[in-house]
Amino acid sequence: SDSHFPVPISPCHADYFLHFPQLFPSSDQVDNSKKIQFADIGCGFGGLLISLSTLFPDTLMIGMELRDKVTEYVKERILALRVAHPSQYQNVSVVRTNSMKYIPNYFEKGQLSKMFFLFPDPHFKEKNHWRRVISPHLLDEYAYVLGVGGIIYTITDVEELGEWMKACLEGHPLFEALTDEELEADPVMKLLNSATEEGQKVARNGGQTFQAVFRRIVISLEI
Ligand code: SAM
Repeated sequence: SDSHFPVPISPCHADYFLHFPQLFPSSDQVDNSKKIQFADIGCGFGGLLISLSTLFPDTLMIGMELRDKVTEYVKERILALRVAHPSQYQNVSVVRTNSMKYIPNYFEKGQLSKMFFLFPDPHFKEKNHWRRVISPHLLDEYAYVLGVGGIIYTITDVEELGEWMKACLEGHPLFEALTDEELEADPVMKLLNSATEEGQKVARNGGQTFQAVFRRIVISLEI
């Protein structure tokens, strides 16, 4: 249950020293100007984060994962990479948490520039739709922690869930879809399928995927 893992009482209590020890060598000297900017929600085995870490070496990023053993695996994976490549992978970490409950404990208003929801659990039955990680009320929270211009990436191999995530995003006043040209120009788009363990599985089985990628905007008030 949730009581098995600690949760910071507010974003300024998030332990950067623990997560990024080479970048924040002392717990009392955290440089507040440098904050986590990417969050991979339900990161699973961490393949996306590992790829993003070297693609954006100056950006701090974190995976949030509910399963204890999977989180431990990702931790070990990152530590091993840091040992093998001492100047790399210092900007990536993972935390065991329930992202549906604790996002605002970790991130301040407007802090994030990218959020990833890649191959989330589908929760097929209608009575369980409230468990889906994209929903109108959770989008309010994601809009809060994303800065204006920040991007939310979603992908799934479950068509019904893909339609649901897209419909939730289209229906939210603080998000707009990226254009085809913008998607084409974004180097992260290729990773959604190729870097995640789940995406690789779907590709091996020749499955189709459904993406919805939206930008955080400000509400335009028409007078
Ligand atoms: N994103 C990864 C990928 O594409 O390979 C993993 C996808 S896996 C199907 C979904 C992951 O979300 C699982 O590892 C699960 O434990 C995690 N998860 C489900 N609910 C969660 C929650 N409320 N908070 C954090 N992680 C969650």
